[in-house]
Amino acid sequence: MLILECPYCGIKGEETEFHAGGEAHLKRFGPGSSDEDFETYLFMRENPKGVHLERWRHANGCGKWFHAARCTMTLEVFGTYSAQSFEPPKEIKDILTAKRPGWSWRNFK
Ligand SMILES: [Zn+2]
Repeated sequence: MLILECPYCGIKGEETEFHAGGEAHLKRFGPGSSDEDFETYLFMRENPKGVHLERWRHANGCGKWFHAARCTMTLEVFGTYSAQSFEPPKEIKDILTAKRPGWSWRNFK
């Protein structure tokens, strides 16, 4: 069972309390970008067996979007954080480094 905590209102609940929004921290490309960049933005997604950074919406609560760092194999949630951030906060990166040594995602160390 996946248990998430909304970072805005602090409510903890099962995933049915929330709505999944796909991969977090996508780099957006629009008009003027190359076809390859735009195709990557539209269709290419991470599909890891392990740590994944995702967007979630507190659909049955405050309605706000947030990000979650979790493991797709164990459903362990490493933390949730604001959707207005461009990368996971340091405390979540530290947790990921401690619990999954050697883990890296894109350019995050
Ligand atoms: Zn909330």
